[in-house]
Amino acid sequence: MSRSVLVTGGNRGIGLAIARAFAQAGDKVAITYRSGEPPQELADLGVLAVRCDITDSEQVEQAYKEIEAKHGNVEVLVANAGITKDTLLMRMSEEDFTSVVDTNLTGTFRVVKRANRGMLRAKKGRVVLISSVVGLLGAAGQANYAASKAALVGFARSLARELGSRNITFNVVAPGFVDTDMTKVLSDEQRADILAQVPLARYAQPEEIAAAVSFLASDDAAYITGAVIPVDGGLGMGH
Ligand code: NDP
Repeated sequence: MSRSVLVTGGNRGIGLAIARAFAQAGDKVAITYRSGEPPQELADLGVLAVRCDITDSEQVEQAYKEIEAKHGNVEVLVANAGITKDTLLMRMSEEDFTSVVDTNLTGTFRVVKRANRGMLRAKKGRVVLISSVVGLLGAAGQANYAASKAALVGFARSLARELGSRNITFNVVAPGFVDTDMTKVLSDEQRADILAQVPLARYAQPEEIAAAVSFLASDDAAYITGAVIPVDGGLGMGH
């Protein structure tokens, strides 16, 4: 069964690994990217790459129109695109806060709301939101990011209740620290501090996040909705 899958921010990092996993499983995959050019690997896998900044509703609308024209209605949406702007509260500007919320939370709202139209018509759909262990544990210097990621849980659980009867599931994956550009900016000292708290004592590979997302989109996960699945090496245990 080849489904129409959309992964936001699928040009690199975790999103790229998710897009690759769906494409290799035979789905029709589209990704959005905001800047630069998507890697050649995606074209080789037959993945449709659409430029779209999720902070702009008009760009989201245009991206969906292009994807629907080529792949049909989106059946599986993975809202993965996200940013950090880490700093302590005393130095955090309003823009540092609102831009992170606008991308991570409101951007997710924009893409989920637009996908919902086709899913309602089809009376089926799978939505997976990429949150973070930090949304549940908090982290000094990440109040903006943690707030945006925690909010995804309430968002997903509300929609799980609102749209469960329409056969649309909403789940959250909460990764721990993953080896991507986002964590490359951490100093060696920060890295060592983090690893000391992770029971599995290593970072995740992006493919390990993709595996959980693929499962949540699979038939085997048909009865799972409103769940928060940690893929964090044990870092957030109990939250
Ligand atoms: P990267 O920084 O490697 O990639 C982020 C992706 O999001 C890029 O594709 C980027 O596009 C895209 N993006 C950012 N802002 C926008 C926007 N306004 N519109 C459209 N696309 C946008 O991050 P990761 O792969 O590490 O992270 C992916 C997700 O996983 C994020 O939501 C992140 O918060 C979450 N996460 C990551 C963890 C980690 O340790 N790495 C841990 C827990 C959660 P572009 O290339 O154009 O910048």
